Amino acid sequence: MDTKDLLLSIKNISKTYSNGVQALKNVSLDVPVGMYGLLGPNGAGKSTLMRILSTLQIPDEGSIYLGKIDIVAQPNELRQTLGYLPQDFGLYPKSRAEDLLNHFAILKGITNRMARKEVVEKLLRKTNLYEVRKQKVGGFSGGMRQRFGVAISLIGNPKLLIVDEPTAGLDPGERVRFLNLLSELGEKSIIILSTHIVEDISELCTRMAIINKGSILLETKPLEAIEKLKGKIWRRIVEKKLLPQLEIEHKVISTKLFNGKTVVHIYSREHPGSGFEEINPDLEDVYFCKIRSNGIIEKKVLL
Ligand code: ADP
Repeated sequence: MDTKDLLLSIKNISKTYSNGVQALKNVSLDVPVGMYGLLGPNGAGKSTLMRILSTLQIPDEGSIYLGKIDIVAQPNELRQTLGYLPQDFGLYPKSRAEDLLNHFAILKGITNRMARKEVVEKLLRKTNLYEVRKQKVGGFSGGMRQRFGVAISLIGNPKLLIVDEPTAGLDPGERVRFLNLLSELGEKSIIILSTHIVEDISELCTRMAIINKGSILLETKPLEAIEKLKGKIWRRIVEKKLLPQLEIEHKVISTKLFNGKTVVHIYSREHPGSGFEEINPDLEDVYFCKIRSNGIIEKKVLL
């Protein structure tokens, strides 16, 4: 099968932990080749879904196929074409990047020395770590570490790459470099990026889903979702004490503290009255609209 037609098909997946927490409720998604964003607050179920897709956990119900591979029934087949970058991964701090990558390539079964050398060099170049290949990974910055994690997960050319909350702790420059690297890889494989950071999604993902309390609230293209909100998002800057009244009168989707004032975004199909101005919606508005109507109140503070 041509890689560009590959599809990850997730159907009716549910998962309840032994403590009774239902982490996933009947989740269905079709994920095509490209970079796919899974966005949701902490505790939404993202990591549980990522671990299931990575064959580290099995769902209680439902099916998952990558092309013809049944992920639940044939985990070993999937593992041959899977790259997984978990939220936290340990590295041997005293090893040099090149040696460590070589070691992982052996573990992945690339036994031919010359072929391995080639793979290691290619991956170091791709992740922009070639210049620092002789350095110990213990001294890497957060961004270098994450890119090294990607280098490891790319050994063997996976068709499915799972990346769980990868930008936490990266500075803005590192974050952009890291996301650009992923989006390049997304030209040929399926990449799922799980995150609670809206900006991670808006820039590079071709498709996305919003997940909350174990359920998918929205499955869309980021630009399409923003377009649908046009003309319906209004802003007003108010004193904090007016907020409770606004909450009663309007569908408030987010409030941000800015310079001692409160910036309120509301959803309304009509002009909500004086003091409000229409604004161009962004993905954060899409996200908060969905999450708010799902019963969670989130507040963001800007200094
Ligand atoms: P996210 O990655 O979106 O933060 P998780 O998948 O980690 O969400 O968690 C979803 C829910 O499942 C949370 O309520 C969390 O406390 C619970 N949970 C996660 N892992 C376990 C576990 N191993 N045992 C019990 N509950 C868990």
